[in-house]
Amino acid sequence: MPTSLVLERQGELSLREIELRGDLGPSDVRIAIRTVGVCGSDVHYYTHGKIGPFVVNEPMVLGHEASGVVTEVGGQVSHLKVGDRVCMEPGIPDSASRAAKLGIYNVDPAVTFWATPPVHGCLTPEVVHPAAYTYRLPDNVSFAEGAMVEPFAIGMQAALRARIQPGDIALVTGAGPIGMMTALAALAGGCAKVYVSDLAQPKLDIIGAYPGIETINIRNTPAAEAIAQATDGWGADVVFECSGAAPAILGLPQLARPGGTIVLVGMPVDPVPFDIVGLQAKELRVETVFRYANVYDRAISLIASGKVDLKPLISLTVPFADSIAAFDRAAEGRETDVKIQIEMPAE
Ligand code: ZN
Repeated sequence: MPTSLVLERQGELSLREIELRGDLGPSDVRIAIRTVGVCGSDVHYYTHGKIGPFVVNEPMVLGHEASGVVTEVGGQVSHLKVGDRVCMEPGIPDSASRAAKLGIYNVDPAVTFWATPPVHGCLTPEVVHPAAYTYRLPDNVSFAEGAMVEPFAIGMQAALRARIQPGDIALVTGAGPIGMMTALAALAGGCAKVYVSDLAQPKLDIIGAYPGIETINIRNTPAAEAIAQATDGWGADVVFECSGAAPAILGLPQLARPGGTIVLVGMPVDPVPFDIVGLQAKELRVETVFRYANVYDRAISLIASGKVDLKPLISLTVPFADSIAAFDRAAEGRETDVKIQIEMPAE
């Protein structure tokens, strides 16, 4: 049995052998994992032992942002072959479900998702995955970028839900990794300019280095004031809420222009108040995002085209043998760290 990164219980990680699914179905592929990104959710399971209703009750392999190489294909797989470099969607819906038939497989009640208890993740040398949720990487997209497709897909889903029109001005509240991904997707989706607001200057410096993105440090200027100044008092066409912070959510109607759009991306830990009359008074459209559906191909195309460069967001790469240290570093939440990645030893 190969060694995996196992979350034994809240606060305890180990690198050890654990029994995982190994049987290859006719529509599956076997993949040697190469790169895995450490996500806030992985870290939260480590530090808190649960997210909402999902509780770590038994040892679980972490990781869901992965790329790798196909090593075996099932008999019915035609679009992938051994040796293909790929990345994977971590959520597997029931393809016969009503949600899947509607194309909204991300909200299929039966979906299973890597490293969401009790489902094991991909910080392990090898996984078996449905070929339908496995995507070939173009030659000019690295394994590191391939492992960034998963978090970028959330930004893509947000940009699609916003129904951006060319020349829109957007505001992203919260410069965490998902806020950054959303800002880049909004820019690639046609926004003329994207403002990003946060309290942490190091984070703003990282995302503000991209042309087309301007930053607002809300320690100095409230977001509403800064966006009013930038738009002659009109407001942003689209506001992407990526902080999950209660005050930011309550203040959303002040940020959008009349008839504008608010996309709720960040997930508050507890229920928070929402200013309904504020939304009504501007007839704002509110959209929500839960993971993503049908965006991987688009995300990979944008990365391959060079229109979206995620490489500057990879702050640190560590070998698999040092994964526990990588998680401890991620749990520190350094403001200069965006994405920490773990690399499997190459064959
Ligand atoms: Zn993630």
